[in-house]
Amino acid sequence: MTISIQNIRGFSDVLPDESPAWQFVEQTFRHELERYGFDEIRLPIVEKTALFSRSIGEVTDIVEKEMYTFTDRNGDSLTLRPEGTAGCVRAALQRGLLHNAQPRLWYAGPMFRHERPQKGRYRQFHQVGAEAFGVPGPDVDAELILLSGRILRALGLRDVTLEINNLGTSETRARYRDDLIKHFQAHAEHLDDDARRRLHSNPLRILDSKNPAMAEVIASAPDLLDYMDAEAQAHFTAVRAMLEATGQAYRVNSRLVRGLDYYGSTVFEWVSEHLGAQGTVLAGGRYDALVEMMGGRATPAIGFAAGIERLVSLVEAAGSVPDKTTTQAYLIMTEPTLAQNALAIAESLRTQMPTLRVQVNMGGGSMKSQLRRADRSGAAFALILGPSEAAAGEINIKDLRGETEQYTVAIDRLPAVLSSFDSR
Ligand code: ATP
Ligand code: MG
Repeated sequence: MTISIQNIRGFSDVLPDESPAWQFVEQTFRHELERYGFDEIRLPIVEKTALFSRSIGEVTDIVEKEMYTFTDRNGDSLTLRPEGTAGCVRAALQRGLLHNAQPRLWYAGPMFRHERPQKGRYRQFHQVGAEAFGVPGPDVDAELILLSGRILRALGLRDVTLEINNLGTSETRARYRDDLIKHFQAHAEHLDDDARRRLHSNPLRILDSKNPAMAEVIASAPDLLDYMDAEAQAHFTAVRAMLEATGQAYRVNSRLVRGLDYYGSTVFEWVSEHLGAQGTVLAGGRYDALVEMMGGRATPAIGFAAGIERLVSLVEAAGSVPDKTTTQAYLIMTEPTLAQNALAIAESLRTQMPTLRVQVNMGGGSMKSQLRRADRSGAAFALILGPSEAAAGEINIKDLRGETEQYTVAIDRLPAVLSSFDSR
């Protein structure tokens, strides 16, 4: 059989055997974010195109060539969100959340970028993001980094390392930019097409290039940290001191710049060695200018976003995903006419045992085929209902995994019996 319509390239299905890892990652983020005082915000997946082109920056990979932009039936230019910060800031401003408040918000969901699909890089991918508004730092910078470290530890990931940098103020970046352009112009023969194109519009982004042919010209470029003014220096020193005071190891990477224009001051990334070129699992930074740029009152802010697909593949490799509770009981009936008794028994069990996973055999079948389905469901035991048991208010229990012989119990004793199975 050929299926006539397939998925779109770069848009994946998460199959049932993969969902425990997804749930583990998502629940861990939710749990830890809530513990640090973050509240969930749910945002639209589609926004006006201008929201992204203005906030992310016109001369970025995302805005130049990665956005899923379309004109809707009203003639408006709309875009599938490529990241979450712009929409979060839009909502916070529009709904007055920043008014006399310092909200801490988190969100999760799909993002869309038209990139070249490969391991760890998809066109629909998922992020959990967190944004903290109204605090100039450095305390909140350090806390956000510590929070992200805690989440990665809770996920059982040990081989991830923290890199930090400080992009300084827009004035220092402007001076640095000029010198960078001079440096790259002097070595123009080593630049690739992307770098040449960006030389004047976004030279800092060249530092972020993953092209090995440019490693040398990047390594010999001037160092951003040499340009830092006293205020940025003090901020960076304070963040570092707070990390050190809490025992959080880090590496200063002065080549660490973020792909989006709105970042300044503190930036950080958590990187795994196990993912090849797609090694960054969580990245964030300060964006003090964005809220004002989008029409609000000047409001300092910092946030991060984590890539769920990359984390899922790491937790799977690390074996840290908790076992899923499989079906515990599978209810079989010897006659199709017993279906209503079976449903009633299962309903009553679910009411009495809130964590029990019980499946009722549907669609009939011989005893043999029902038992085969029971086995495949992963159930620990089968409950077998025949007409005489139904009449007597009883049911048979067959141990599918252990040695115990099949036996009969009163239906109202089932919860007690099943609990004892549970704890063996
Ligand atoms: P990269 O350098 O890997 O392209 P980025 O700087 O574009 O990342 P951000 O916009 O900061 O990434 O997004 C935060 C995180 O989201 C990344 O660190 C990564 O884990 C994940 N991510 C980004 N783009 C993709 C993608 N196309 N597919 C899967 N995950 C992604
Ligand atoms: Mg990218």
